[in-house]
Amino acid sequence: MTAFRIEIRGIVQGVGFRPYVHKMVEKYGFSGWIRNTSYGAQLELAGSRRALLHFLDDLKKSPPPLALIEGVEYTAVEAREYSGFRIIESERSGHMETLVSPDVGICADCARELLDPADRRYKYPFINCTNCGPRFTIIKSVPYDRASTSMAAFPMCGDCAAEFADIRDRRYHAQPNCCPECGPECFFLDGHGRPVPGDAIELARRALKAGEIVCVKGLGGMHLACLPEPETVRELRARKRRDEKPFAVMCRSVDCARDICRVSADEAAALEGHRKPIVLLEKLGASAMTHLSENACVGVMLPYTPLHILLMGTDIDCLVMTSANISETPIISSNAEALAELAGVADGFLLHDREIVTKCDDSLIRIYNGRDYPLRRSRGYVPYPVSVPVEHMLLACGAEQKASFCLSKRSHAFPSQHMGDLKNAQTLDNWERQIEHFSALYDIAPAAIACDMHPDYLSTAYAEERAERDAVTLLRVQHHHAHMAACMADNGLEGDCLGLIWDGTGYGSDGRIWGAEVLAGGYKAFRRVGTMRPVALAGGDAAIDGIWRVGLALLRDSGLDTNRFAGENGYETVLKMLQTGTNCPESSGMGRLFDGVAAILGIRRKAGYEGQGAVLLEAAARAGEGGAYPYELCGGEVLTLDWRPTVRALTSELDGGVEVPVIAARFMNTLIRAAAEQLSRLAAETGLGRVVLSGGVFQNMYIMDRLPERLRAQGLEVYTHSRVSANDEGISLGQLMILEANYVLGGAAENS
Ligand code: ZN
Ligand code: ZN
Ligand code: FE
Repeated sequence: MTAFRIEIRGIVQGVGFRPYVHKMVEKYGFSGWIRNTSYGAQLELAGSRRALLHFLDDLKKSPPPLALIEGVEYTAVEAREYSGFRIIESERSGHMETLVSPDVGICADCARELLDPADRRYKYPFINCTNCGPRFTIIKSVPYDRASTSMAAFPMCGDCAAEFADIRDRRYHAQPNCCPECGPECFFLDGHGRPVPGDAIELARRALKAGEIVCVKGLGGMHLACLPEPETVRELRARKRRDEKPFAVMCRSVDCARDICRVSADEAAALEGHRKPIVLLEKLGASAMTHLSENACVGVMLPYTPLHILLMGTDIDCLVMTSANISETPIISSNAEALAELAGVADGFLLHDREIVTKCDDSLIRIYNGRDYPLRRSRGYVPYPVSVPVEHMLLACGAEQKASFCLSKRSHAFPSQHMGDLKNAQTLDNWERQIEHFSALYDIAPAAIACDMHPDYLSTAYAEERAERDAVTLLRVQHHHAHMAACMADNGLEGDCLGLIWDGTGYGSDGRIWGAEVLAGGYKAFRRVGTMRPVALAGGDAAIDGIWRVGLALLRDSGLDTNRFAGENGYETVLKMLQTGTNCPESSGMGRLFDGVAAILGIRRKAGYEGQGAVLLEAAARAGEGGAYPYELCGGEVLTLDWRPTVRALTSELDGGVEVPVIAARFMNTLIRAAAEQLSRLAAETGLGRVVLSGGVFQNMYIMDRLPERLRAQGLEVYTHSRVSANDEGISLGQLMILEANYVLGGAAENS
């Protein structure tokens, strides 16, 4: 008989860890105790040494579903007299360092009780337990207990309180525990905001089935829901002023998802897992459901709250579910705001009386090589940290269009949820408030701040002001260096490597617009060793929407006839601008090359949203098509990809009658070959054999399915994202790593 004192670090609080351990310990027949500490949990167990070691192994191998064990240490201590196994009072040190849990999709046990007529929570839309339910979106402050959440308004009834106090109960210490007697309630209002008497969920179902658009209050905000019928969806687009962006759907089950999409085993697991993100799935046919999504893919999620399960019932297989907001404003989260902002948009409102404290959109991921490939990291993921070797308390302010921020403390980086475009005043306001909220939750007072080098980003302006106010140093980080560092941190890389960063737009160290860069270096510093021939953007921002302007510039620069754009409004002016170079900033952004080629191919001449050219080119490309076009790599200090031979060849094929899907594929094949040659030459030159891939263009799966393989075939080690997004949302993490690397006491070195 011996005893172990065991220290467990990680996410082990608020996730049902102690009851879980209690059950395991009973199985082994140990005696002892467990308690929460400021860094995790502490146990003392008495048993045979062999059995104790076996137990530790067991716990590490199969922790409770929501826990994340970062470290287990044990020392042998003298066995004492224990009275069985007990959960004892938490050790309260100076400051508690509990990690706040993300919201968790409804668990199987709760889903079963929800539909069990004998259960006291039968059809109760707020059923939850220690393993599931709202967390991040209802928490106002820490320590996390009911009083500091929006559940404070609902005192527990006797039955709920008994469950809460019973160590053997699934609801032991489940802070949002509630029931029809004591918890929140749903209600239904008509399009004018007038309450309609009756079963709220039944009323909403009836409205949906009649083809109406219903606002549904979820975990982190409101959705607009409707049936996926083309006419209804067209009406929704018109009312929401969202012409073309794809809509996600909620399917009743994985089987229902299979009616419209291909679903692999990994994708099914992601759909059904507790995070419940939107997973991008390949449509059964490219031309299927184009009213939902013009891409080859559509975003699918499963019901993640009890309310969603009841809403779909047994007869609604699929609902369009889109964040309720108008244009670019943040997701609507309060009842009053919904009724005011969505008047004339929603035909009815399914609301409830539990306040949403923090706005949090649905997460959006793909499954890539069996792992998450995040496109939008939000509900279900945030505010969990990413483990990084960072010591200081830091703040990184991210970019602007796909805004985020990242705070750090003691080897943890906390990337924020998806925020949208800061150019929208309400989004900026929400972003600033979330920085305060995260800082308070995790007790972080940043000792230094990082921002993008772009002088006009609103995140830069905030960082400048705040650095001055708090008298802390500010580091301006080059946009693509931040992308590179984000992917390095995502993969836990140290030292130097190459970064292939294909992006839309980013401010370069030389004041020009960059975006198809090969960087060599690490967190501390970088060198630009590769790029692409820049593209002229006639009219600057006007060329982001009017992508025919880019197409025209490509043709002209390649010495080709520009006549195919002669019908465009402003053709002559744009031509003159290009000739004289007036108001034609140059961009080496890969996204712009995609836009221009999409315009030349006639896929699109104007983009409805940023990056649409690239999305449609990917959707158009015929898989399995071989062949590529010529390109040139021009040496010198920076190895530069010249796309003019490519543009000449693809234009000549287009005029020769080759189909667009073939050309689209060959164009991307060309980029893949060019990148492979560029990187192997640079790897040989620099002696760096590791490559990280980041930037918005790496949301393109045609390229993701082919480029890494090709690079590996040439002996390179390739790293891609799996914890943060490859697009601008991910760069706050990169900025943070660069800030830490350049951090010196009392000041941070300037970085170029
Ligand atoms: Zn549950
Ligand atoms: Zn109750
Ligand atoms: Fe970027």
